[in-house]
Amino acid sequence: MIDLSPLARRLAGSPLHTWAQGLQADLEQRLASGHGDLQRWQNALKALPELTASVVDLARGVTLGGACDDSSRQRLRDALMGLSPWRKGPFELFGVHVDTEWRSDWKWERVAPHLDLHGKRVLDVGCGNGYYQWRMLGAGAEAVIGIDPNWLFFCQFQALAQYLPDLPAWHLPLALEDLPANLQGFDTVFSMGVLYHRRSPIDHLYALKDCLVKGGELVLETLVIHGGPQDVLVPDDRYAQMRNVWFLPSVPALELWLRRAGFNEVKCVDVSTTSIAEQRSTEWMRYQSLEHFLDPDDHAKTVEGLPAPMRAVITARK
Ligand code: SAH
Repeated sequence: MIDLSPLARRLAGSPLHTWAQGLQADLEQRLASGHGDLQRWQNALKALPELTASVVDLARGVTLGGACDDSSRQRLRDALMGLSPWRKGPFELFGVHVDTEWRSDWKWERVAPHLDLHGKRVLDVGCGNGYYQWRMLGAGAEAVIGIDPNWLFFCQFQALAQYLPDLPAWHLPLALEDLPANLQGFDTVFSMGVLYHRRSPIDHLYALKDCLVKGGELVLETLVIHGGPQDVLVPDDRYAQMRNVWFLPSVPALELWLRRAGFNEVKCVDVSTTSIAEQRSTEWMRYQSLEHFLDPDDHAKTVEGLPAPMRAVITARK
């Protein structure tokens, strides 16, 4: 059972108070209707050995250390493998190196220098397994709620949370659309790697704005193309083999969308091309990865002949 009462206590007296009170019942209902593999993943969680993280570093990575003998380390590794595929990370857990598909630490190094999260109440929309939530705490955030409708990622988060039980990070198995309208309770809202999956990207920006307090900050990371304010790529079909990619704007177009959605102080703080060193197959994610989705003769193009993945980080204020 996941006890959300510490979350409800933490949000008492905040604009999120009423929402927080209904979360435990909502979570239990969602867990009960669940997902076909949920039981298997919950069994993997039960197989995690009891260990105490006496050394925790969330500032330079996600690294937990403490007493752990070889047999516990093997049990830990096996249980974590039972939660594969691991996409976002890496995690260093009691000597087990969870070498995830993505070097999410590289993305964080591009994002974090532009933010001040000290004392902030943060929402991470599309948080995946919560990798960045731990890094946000490492950067001084006061509390971090992640939402993501994917149950495997929810379970991966619980594996970490088992060893970090007292930290103010919570993962809720919700989509952004499941949040009540006009929450207006977060100082900082992140949406990283989500916008290009949305069929109505401008509605997504409005929904993110709804979650922020007045004056709060949005951190948006998404795929972009080169071009001017009216340039947007809508793939005919797949993009880098993904079926669910809809809108890839240029940076000026994205900035325009944000201003139209009512944000100000819109700033692009980073643009980078995703390399096959940043996103690749590993033993923790054995499926195909970026290398297989690029034109083998020209890594500037996807297999569909479209511009290869390039990502921008934009900050904006409500
Ligand atoms: N933020 C992470 C993960 C990006 S992958 C990163 O930047 O690395 C996109 C994630 O968004 C997936 O985990 C997916 O489950 C989640 N997602 C998709 N639609 C969503 C929605 N409507 N609301 C919240 N999360 C969503």
